[in-house]
Amino acid sequence: MRQEKTLTHEFVEFIPDVLKESTLYVSMEYATVVHKCCCGCGREVVTPLSPTDWKLIFDGKSISLDPSIGNWSFDCKSHYWIRGGKVRWARRWSQEEIDAGRASDRFAKENYFATGNTAPDVRKKEEERSFWRKLWKW
Ligand SMILES: [Zn+2]
Repeated sequence: MRQEKTLTHEFVEFIPDVLKESTLYVSMEYATVVHKCCCGCGREVVTPLSPTDWKLIFDGKSISLDPSIGNWSFDCKSHYWIRGGKVRWARRWSQEEIDAGRASDRFAKENYFATGNTAPDVRKKEEERSFWRKLWKW
C-alpha cells in the first residue's frame, strides 16, 4: 500500500508549462484541472470539468475530484481518488473493467448529448466506430 499523499492546489488562468509535484492546477477559465500523476511517474494528468467528466469540489481549503482518476493509458496504470486534498489509492482495474468503464463513460456522454446538450469537443469518427464495434461484441 502506498503512502497517503497530500496535495496542494493553485488556481491559475493558464496551466504552467512546468508542473510541480503534488500540486493541482485549477483553471476555472478553461474548466480543467491538471496535475502530475500521483504515483510519481511524472506524467501529466488532465481532468476536464464538465457534466460528463470530472466535478471539482472546493471546500475553501482543499480540493476533491469526482470520479476517481484512472491513468490507464500510462505505464503506471495508477488509480486514485482525490478527496479533501489527499490521494486515496484505489485498486488497480483489470483490462475488462477498464474497457467496461470506458464504454459506460462513452454511453453516458451519448445520452447526455442526445438530450440536446452541446458537445464541448467533437470526437473523431474512428473512436466512435471502435466503440460500437466493442458494444456489438457484447
Ligand atoms: Zn503514474
